[in-house]
Amino acid sequence: MTEAFRQRFGPAEGLRIWRAPGRVNLIGEHTDYNLGFVLPVALPLAAYVAAAPSRDGKLRIWSEHRGELFECPASEVAALERRRQWTDYPLGVARELALAGFPIEPANLLIRSTVPEGSGLSSSAALEVSSALAFLNGRVLEPLALARLCQRAEREFVGMPCGIMDQYIAVFGRAGCAIEIDCRSLEHRLVELPADIAFLAVNTMVKHALAASAYRERVAECAAAVERIRARFPEVESLRDVSPGQLASVAPLLSAVVARRARHVVTENGRVAAFVDSSARGDLPRMGRLLVESHYSLRDDYQVSCPELDFLVETALAIDGVFGARMTGGGFGGCTVAMLRPEAIPPFRERIVRDFERQFHVTPEIYPCQPSAGAGVA
Ligand code: ADP
Ligand code: MG
Repeated sequence: MTEAFRQRFGPAEGLRIWRAPGRVNLIGEHTDYNLGFVLPVALPLAAYVAAAPSRDGKLRIWSEHRGELFECPASEVAALERRRQWTDYPLGVARELALAGFPIEPANLLIRSTVPEGSGLSSSAALEVSSALAFLNGRVLEPLALARLCQRAEREFVGMPCGIMDQYIAVFGRAGCAIEIDCRSLEHRLVELPADIAFLAVNTMVKHALAASAYRERVAECAAAVERIRARFPEVESLRDVSPGQLASVAPLLSAVVARRARHVVTENGRVAAFVDSSARGDLPRMGRLLVESHYSLRDDYQVSCPELDFLVETALAIDGVFGARMTGGGFGGCTVAMLRPEAIPPFRERIVRDFERQFHVTPEIYPCQPSAGAGVA
């Protein structure tokens, strides 16, 4: 990256390289913005930002993947408008930093990412957090404040009403551990996974156009559910507070669709707890069953799956040594995650690639998911 930086920007004096990982969420999908529980793992795939001070007052950001350069006076960054393109992620972060009292210094940034874009492995949070570290250039922002600031950038500048999971795991990821996040208290627990299993993410290589609008629609449906439930149970502030019994008793007050959305969130929170518990007991078959139940709930109640994701899950479940699989990330494309015995990896790869190619005429990419460290100096 240093060489690439020199070629693009010239002298690399003061160059530092920052890294923030993508993630795979093992279980707890669409629960973060309902202030519930999630269980992501930081990935070896990551966004890297090489950054050095510039001498002409300008901020420049080059994305290798896009082959595009953004440039403006550093002093004007905080006043920029959203442009509805990739630069909104780093610029939204820059704006939030400036608002938080960390002025943006003139600098050149070169972005290189191994996280596939728009695949549910959170290339966006990896880009936000690595950019934030580059802009900070050693100035200290508390880890939780960093994660929240990047979430704010995505919500307010990019315009995506996301929960905290992606930015949180990009900051707090830990080698060897999954992280159970309580998205209300913003506390987490390290979860050591059983030694004799592996997780693989499989990329459908599609992202259906519906993804962003459906995400917003689900956020709104969950808010609608909370509003109706509060009429009976005023103490409820988010779906996180709703027990299965409460939900059953108010279901007649909800439209059929909203009741199903709420049922997914309420049962999914329960599955995160059950998964962590089964993991501690080494109950691999139960962990696998919970993954599959999560998928069916996302497919049938939350309705965010698609034929490619369903096909990958069913194909995986037919392979020896696979305990379970589910879609991961927002849905409508992106990746599945499968839990399997390590010795099943080669036949799994072969079978998944062959069957998916035959069905969809695309080669799915497969990524190992060894739990990796959170953001920092690369
Ligand atoms: P996900 O976070 O699941 O990968 P998102 O839609 O949330 O999907 O974020 C993907 C967006 O992040 C891309 O469309 C692009 O705007 C931005 N992005 C991610 N990685 C890069 C990169 N290396 N260069 C430029 N933009 C990137
Ligand atoms: Mg994202």
